[in-house]
Amino acid sequence: MLENLKILDTTLRDGEQTPGVLITSDEKLKIALKLDELGVNVIEAGSAITSKDEQKSIKTITENNLNAEICSFARPMKIDIDTAIDCDVDSIHLVIPSSDLHIEYKLRKTRQEVEQMAVSATEYAKSHGLIVELSTEDATRTSTDDLKHLYTQCIDAGCDRICACDTIGLLTPERSYEFYKELSTLNVPLSVHCHNDFGLAVANTIQALRAGATQAHTTINGIGERAGNASCEELIMAIESLYNIQTGIKTELFYETSQLVERITGLNLQANKAIVGANAFAHESGIHSDGVLKKTETYEPIKPEKVGHRRRFVLGKHVGKHVISEKIKETNTEVTPEELNRIFERVKALSDMGKTVTDVDLQAITDDILHINPEDSLVLQEYTTVSGNKVIPTASVRVNINNTERIEAGVGVGPVDAAIEAIRKSIKDTADITLEEYHVDAITGGTDALIDVLVKLKYEDKQITARSTQPDIIMASVEAYLKGVNKILSDKKRS
Ligand code: MN
Repeated sequence: MLENLKILDTTLRDGEQTPGVLITSDEKLKIALKLDELGVNVIEAGSAITSKDEQKSIKTITENNLNAEICSFARPMKIDIDTAIDCDVDSIHLVIPSSDLHIEYKLRKTRQEVEQMAVSATEYAKSHGLIVELSTEDATRTSTDDLKHLYTQCIDAGCDRICACDTIGLLTPERSYEFYKELSTLNVPLSVHCHNDFGLAVANTIQALRAGATQAHTTINGIGERAGNASCEELIMAIESLYNIQTGIKTELFYETSQLVERITGLNLQANKAIVGANAFAHESGIHSDGVLKKTETYEPIKPEKVGHRRRFVLGKHVGKHVISEKIKETNTEVTPEELNRIFERVKALSDMGKTVTDVDLQAITDDILHINPEDSLVLQEYTTVSGNKVIPTASVRVNINNTERIEAGVGVGPVDAAIEAIRKSIKDTADITLEEYHVDAITGGTDALIDVLVKLKYEDKQITARSTQPDIIMASVEAYLKGVNKILSDKKRS
């Protein structure tokens, strides 16, 4: 039953309803373009009635003539439908509360009144040429008789698809199968909309699809109200990898889509998030890493490239010698087995103290053991930053690059950003390095805390990590960045 699966992605509507999230019009368009490239069938772009800004966002998306059907959420009210029409959407997601609880306490109406509203709204939208997906809110706490009664009238009124929402995530996989099976007898395409309050949204969605639903509502990274919605990347990868069914979705775009949504919404992904989390393809344990280096299938259910992600070996307390050896080889450095043993012991000692060993740490240990006296290519002579509530944060730096002095200045959102920008400008002719990630931790409490900064830099197809711990956040950031850059420049020299 999973073969002709369609995806309605609601990252821009249910996802935006995540507490604390607001997506601007430009950002919505960026996400919509990416979702279209990914190949979802329907993009629920927002709820047109919400505000003038929301209308502008939806209209910007509809003006782009995407392949996907563009949809707006609407209540069964003329004004909601009219506003959606003004945004030139292809379809509306018409949402009607269906449980006694919602009808009595939220709407304070009778079931007959609600049914009448649904039918009139459907007729009105259809008479204006819209595709109508009629959705029942809190459907999983509504009797299937009541649901069928409502759906049948709306189908007669011309609605194109029906959707039953597990609004507060109460289904189990078994109940989901029974529930959607019962509704799949109605003669229109059926959608499933699951929330993740018990972590079952994807499992419940799969059961609904097996039972006869043909369209799944999803969001990227599973964002959405409370615990979120069924995650698009998890659902698709489960169907493709565990049920062996091709969905037609460009799965290799999942990681970058996830990153885009993470960046724009500011909702940081948990490291162990399935498919797209930082640790989804990371290995630390010696046994695991060793296995993966010999054959990836030993400890990876799918290849990271399949979702556009990367495999990563983390040097922690379970690290194995094999991984360290591979890491050192990457930098074109030769070590004897005895030297490798000594490097391994030092890495273990560091990680036993609870430190994540960065690439720069490993390099420093290796250089030390091989008695290499590395000369930093980039040396900071001085830096100055200016920041305040009435100035644009600005930084100037004087650096030596391969013994040539350079002076640069940069501006940014704050002094750290400005200082990094100034340094980046000073090396831009030497190497094209991008800052991929930046983490700050205050190790102790108080404003005089030690600040630990970890950066990930990207150079060509390599990613390297570096850290610095200092009481001054700007200096810690600058030093971590410099260490990373010097590691890249020294690798460049060696190769
Ligand atoms: Mn929802």
